[in-house]
Amino acid sequence: MNPELVSIVPCETYDPDVCEAALTAVLEPLGGLLWVRPGMRIAIKANLVAGAKPEKAVTTHPALLAALTRLLKARGASVVIGDSPGNLYNASVLNHIYTACELSTAEKAGAELNRDFSEKGAYSPDAVQVKSFTYTGWLDGADAIINFSKLKSHGMMSLSAAAKNLFGTIPGTIKQEYHYRFPNPNDFADMIVDLDEYWKPVLNLCDAVLAMEGNGPTQGTPKHVGCLLASKNPHCLDVLAATVIGLKPAEVPTIAAAVRRGFCPDSVSRLSIAGDWKPFVQTGFELITNRNSLLFSENDTLIGKAKVAVMRACLASRPKVRKSACVGCGRCRDVCPAHTITIRNKKAVIDRRHCIKCFCCQEFCPVGAMRVHRSPVARVLTRGRREAK
Ligand code: SF4
Ligand code: SF4
Repeated sequence: MNPELVSIVPCETYDPDVCEAALTAVLEPLGGLLWVRPGMRIAIKANLVAGAKPEKAVTTHPALLAALTRLLKARGASVVIGDSPGNLYNASVLNHIYTACELSTAEKAGAELNRDFSEKGAYSPDAVQVKSFTYTGWLDGADAIINFSKLKSHGMMSLSAAAKNLFGTIPGTIKQEYHYRFPNPNDFADMIVDLDEYWKPVLNLCDAVLAMEGNGPTQGTPKHVGCLLASKNPHCLDVLAATVIGLKPAEVPTIAAAVRRGFCPDSVSRLSIAGDWKPFVQTGFELITNRNSLLFSENDTLIGKAKVAVMRACLASRPKVRKSACVGCGRCRDVCPAHTITIRNKKAVIDRRHCIKCFCCQEFCPVGAMRVHRSPVARVLTRGRREAK
């Protein structure tokens, strides 16, 4: 079987029977679940980035996690579901997230929700950016990992789907250190691809029934797309996912990194696809086309560096507080790896001189007050595309 094959099927709703039928159908071109043997322990790495009701489209939907659990248990496997959000990685935070995301649905289907919050160290000699890293220890107990992502727009990476989902294997607030270590979006993307290569999930799935457009990945707007995607290759899945929501693959730094490293083709026309994907292509999906990754040049000459500095000043997106919406909770200040946010008069204030444009503040603002602001020049250059402002 072609390991780069991407499968896509309709899945109109989160009705349990619809989910189970769609999962069975999307896996069929990939050989189904015949690889699952009785007694195996399967870890489902979901997207549980924040405690939000399923209809908000922030996290992998519990109905799909429950349906996948049923299919795996029917093959005799045991199932554990987990993730590490950007918050503290402990029982109190995760219990809140499990409840808010209604993961009791998956528990009732026989899944265990992860409560092993240990941290382990890994060495990955072939990595480009992170040869040594700390990861969430719960994955060690698994015979196989299934990466079950959610299709969303993303402030820093433009797209949150299969590849980005494995950043959640880095425990809690250590993620902020990684943002600080890799302020260049291309380096950050290479780090994500390193993680994808280290974990090599046996299967990658993407919940695109209800996707998220606009101010993603936590405060955007739910958008019905009505499909499921699956592939053994997370980058090939992302090429199709990006195309479905109207992003060019080259606009997604993780895809660009994977293309550079020979892990996937650069266009949907070069993918092997099972299923009719064209009906799912969205018109007017509200994107965050953050072009900051294009502003980091390899040109090391003095003139080259000067040109890039001017381009960055004119074109780079940056975080911006909507003062009217800010409630002064301080969450952005707490997650900012550059420690460049203060709260004054109950409003967030960014010292732009030290901002590394990681957009953690935008990702974790609980009320959507922190936005990705595109420069006027960049907006003119990409006129015609709808942007999240
Ligand atoms: S997280 Fe959002 S609401 Fe809270 S202080 Fe920052 S911008 Fe304001
Ligand atoms: S202000 Fe926001 S974008 Fe800038 S470094 Fe802090 S968290 Fe990252």
